[in-house]
This record gives sequence, C-alpha cells and structure tokens, in this order.
Amino acid sequence: MTNQTKLQAAVFLDRDGVLIHDVDYLSDLKDIHIYEDVPEALSKLKKAGFLLIMVTNQSGVARGYFDEKFVEASYGNIQASLQNQSATLDGMYFCPHHIIGRPPYNIKCNCRKPLPGMILEAEKQFNIDLSRSYMLGDKLCDVELAKNSRTVGLLLKTGYGKSQAAVISEKYPDVKIFNRFFEAANYILDQAYQG
Ligand SMILES: [Mg+2]
Repeated sequence: MTNQTKLQAAVFLDRDGVLIHDVDYLSDLKDIHIYEDVPEALSKLKKAGFLLIMVTNQSGVARGYFDEKFVEASYGNIQASLQNQSATLDGMYFCPHHIIGRPPYNIKCNCRKPLPGMILEAEKQFNIDLSRSYMLGDKLCDVELAKNSRTVGLLLKTGYGKSQAAVISEKYPDVKIFNRFFEAANYILDQAYQG
C-alpha cells in the first residue's frame, strides 16, 4: 500500500484578457478590472475541486515598465476582490523575463509562455494531475502552453482572443473556443461531472 496523496486537477488561468481586462502592460492598480462573470465561475470551479492557478507572462518587468513587487501587488489586489465571492485563487506564477529586457531579466528562461516552466513548477508544488487540468487563455502562447504542458487548452474570445481565434483554430482545430469566461468554466464542469 502506498500512502500517496490524491492528485488534484487544476485550472490554469492567464491574467490579462482572461481574469481582468487587458490594458497592455498594466502598471497602475487602478486599472485592474475583473471581468464581470469571472468571480462566480471561479467559485463554481473551486467548489468542484479544481485548484485555481494564475500563470502570466509579465515581461514588463524585464522591459522596466514595473517591478516584481508590482506584479505581486496586482495579484493581491485581484485576490482581495475575489475574496468576497469565495473565489480566491490558490496560487500565482509569473515570468518576468524577456530576452531583450534589462539584466538580470534578459535571460533565455523556461517559464515564458509557451514554455511550460510555470505549470511544471505548480505541478510539483501542488501535486497536480496535468492530464485532468485545463489552461484558459486568450493568445496563441496560452494554447501552446497547454500543448507543452499536456493540459487541455481552451481559448477565450475576450482580450486578444477575438483577433487570434482564426489563426489558432486553423493551427489547432481541436482547441475549443468560448466567447466568455463562464462558458469555458461551464464546459470544464460538464467534462468533470461526466468523467
Ligand atoms: Mg492574455
């Protein structure tokens, strides 16, 4: 008999254009606006037993637009808003790097999406079953992150999703596309209950 902890499934969530409106290099906490349908949908996913983990590229750090503390503060701000609706996230990973940025951030990292570093780190830290997990994003890099981490990628038409949907569905016809966050969440819940 082994005494293994049961692995949990997770929903990995992009930040900009998925949880909050994308304002291009958010650098002021006042510009954080959570999509209206997000808190209730997160709360349902949480109740169904999914871990909720944000994974976000924040190359604005490398580019000198803001620092790592600001990215943490933004997460804190989002968490505070979600708390009222029992929809808080379980964790956040961000990639501050970019090859054309300032040192020490101008490195060839393994965490910048679509590379799977952030998800692999979360997998270890939270004991996640990636094969039952999902990645929700609004860009090609999110969909490719899902491929690279063997999670199920879902594309939202919020944020950049609307403009990237055609290219993505041509390249990856198996990827499901949803207009709104709650629709993708309902799809995940349906799959989980069937499964
Ligand atoms: Mg995004």
